[in-house]
Amino acid sequence: MGEAVDIPNIEGLKRIVVIGGGFAGFKFVRKINANLFQVVLIDKINYHQFQPLMYQVATAGLEPSSIAFPLRKAFKEHANFHFRTCRALNINASESIVETNIGKIHYDYLVIATGCDTNYFENNSLIDAVFGMKSISESILIRNRILLSLEQALNATSECELEKILNFVIVGGGPTGVELTGALSDIKKNILHKDYPELDLSKMNIHLIDSSTRLLSSMSEYASKKVLENFQKKGVIIHQNRAVVSYEDDCIKMDNGEEIYSQNVFWVAGVKANTINGLNNDVYMKGRLLVNEYNQVKGYENIYCIGDISLMINDQYPKGHPQVVQTALQMANNLAKNMNRVVKGNSKMKKFYYKDKGSLATISRNAAVADLGKLKFSGFIAWLLWLIIHMLYTTGLKNKIFVIINWAWNYFTYDTSLRLLILPKMSKIYKKLD
Ligand SMILES: Cc1cc2nc3c(=O)[nH]c(=O)nc-3n(C[C@H](O)[C@H](O)[C@H](O)COP(=O)(O)OP(=O)(O)OC[C@H]3O[C@@H](n4cnc5c(N)ncnc54)[C@H](O)[C@@H]3O)c2cc1C
Repeated sequence: MGEAVDIPNIEGLKRIVVIGGGFAGFKFVRKINANLFQVVLIDKINYHQFQPLMYQVATAGLEPSSIAFPLRKAFKEHANFHFRTCRALNINASESIVETNIGKIHYDYLVIATGCDTNYFENNSLIDAVFGMKSISESILIRNRILLSLEQALNATSECELEKILNFVIVGGGPTGVELTGALSDIKKNILHKDYPELDLSKMNIHLIDSSTRLLSSMSEYASKKVLENFQKKGVIIHQNRAVVSYEDDCIKMDNGEEIYSQNVFWVAGVKANTINGLNNDVYMKGRLLVNEYNQVKGYENIYCIGDISLMINDQYPKGHPQVVQTALQMANNLAKNMNRVVKGNSKMKKFYYKDKGSLATISRNAAVADLGKLKFSGFIAWLLWLIIHMLYTTGLKNKIFVIINWAWNYFTYDTSLRLLILPKMSKIYKKLD
């Protein structure tokens, strides 16, 4: 990481380095006044990804490019903007430098927005054995796993082998796990019999394992009840209040001793911070960075942190704000406005206040659950609302149009056209990026 990355300073402008072009970093760059700062955005991937719709890529409902937006393209009109595809490795705060795998990058202000990754809860054996869903590439991997299993099922030579191939296990009953389960049972019911008429789909089982006492435990009891009823009707096998203790030789074991044989284990059971080392020890709490009400990292004048990786503790949110899109967007918005203000000489920063806009989750085609303050409802209207909100938040006009076309097509034809097994070959060029 030795040499400085070649990005010339712009005279008279302070440089902001933003690590991460996810929801928080992307919004921040959009909102910061490009004429008042030089902005250097770095990310280990060169596109912004829309995580809430990843489960649709994983179940062949949307194409990957509909939920990705190239970062260079997004900011091509911005003055004084630079992007580098690289991984931030460490922060040297005494020299105001971010050390990356392509070299050192100097900053006047640093904004950390690196988000979260899948949490395997220290169970390292799971990392290579199960399938996480925190990136588009992992979503494609899940799609391939599902399609490959169905192909393999046609050639199974024993009932035992067939069971392992046709058992699909989702671990995690939060919104992501529920949406993935709902979509998988939808394609089982509406689509797979067309592609695999020789297959006895009654042998395909969808298991959902959840360690809490109710599904969607971050939402209302009403939402939990509705999702439970819906899944029970569809024949999803729910293992409530159960934790996974191991997964070896295609056998998943739960804490009550129960076992499921499956080669398809999709792990959406929690997240952990993509932490960046180098700051004082008292800044870190479980990898997240403690910030004050202005998103300023504890003890640092010129380092800020927004989105999932930040931890702002106050009376209302003693465990920090929910790690959701709205928090990331609102923090980014507030910080950018504050920095625009301060640089103009009006040094008054505004504190961050979180406005909870409610929660939505789809449970199947035509049905979703919604908690909007005191208003709780489910069914078709909730699903329409979910559709509109996700379409509005999808980045880029082309993506919005493609998403609508895909959804409309899937809805009216009970079909999706993306059941493609695209298996990339490993290439030498990937190594050089890491
Ligand atoms: C499958 C899934 C579904 C979800 N569904 C919903 C939903 O329906 N509603 C909702 O509100 N929330 C949802 N969430 C949560 C939501 O996506 C996050 O809260 C949100 O993405 C947080 O934004 P962020 O900017 O903090 O992090 P991210 O959007 O994750 O962005 C972090 C960025 O940092 C980059 N990065 C990380 N480490 C480094 C490094 N060392 N160097 C360089 N770059 C780095 C990453 O590549 C990434 O681009 C979902 C999450 C997942 C995974």
